[in-house]
Amino acid sequence: MLEQLKEELVQLHLELPKNDLVRWTGGNVSARDPESGLVVIKASGIRYEDMRPQHMVVMDLEGNRVEGAYKPSSDVYSHIYVYNHRPDVGGVVHTHSRYATAFAAVGREIPCVLTAMGDEFGGPIPCGGFALIGDEAIGRIVVESIGKSPAVLLKNHGVFTIGKTAEAAVKAAVMTEDVAATVWLALQLGTPDVIPQADVDKLHLRYTTVYGQ
Ligand code: 13P
Ligand code: ZN
Repeated sequence: MLEQLKEELVQLHLELPKNDLVRWTGGNVSARDPESGLVVIKASGIRYEDMRPQHMVVMDLEGNRVEGAYKPSSDVYSHIYVYNHRPDVGGVVHTHSRYATAFAAVGREIPCVLTAMGDEFGGPIPCGGFALIGDEAIGRIVVESIGKSPAVLLKNHGVFTIGKTAEAAVKAAVMTEDVAATVWLALQLGTPDVIPQADVDKLHLRYTTVYGQ
């Protein structure tokens, strides 16, 4: 079932190593099928280069495996928690991308000091608290801490991003690491100035309504 979505999800998973956001089997992507409401997520611990549609697992929003021969991702219940609490979300991504996760390791938000952050995130990328892996605890922190941002850091762990689609959530994960690396470099040079929120709001409005074709 949902063969097209599974295929799309395999391609989106491949964006993670391609953009240098994951190593070995870390990270995961899921998508919600808008028609059935079912969630597709990768199986746990599968190497990206080996990933095929049969490694995708179909879940319902109660956390039951509907289809799939493999055990779902360790973060599956957290992804499902996000879908249950954010009806606007159609895709969720998790990575341990290096620079963003360095901020997470020290429990620090990424301050909004770049126009690119105003554009994409509409403010700082917040950092939520620590949670163990395996149940919905991470999902609860994501929902509590993410606010209007498409990205949140999980203390001592990594990055979670959300989007209307899984592709949008993957884009947010790529952008999170890009700005995290730049902000880290800026912090080596001095203390970057935070952009006033009124200007951030204008940047975000222009980017989301006028920018592009
Ligand atoms: P899975 O391979 O089980 O998705 O785990 C990866 C991960 O990053 C856990 O947080
Ligand atoms: Zn992880």
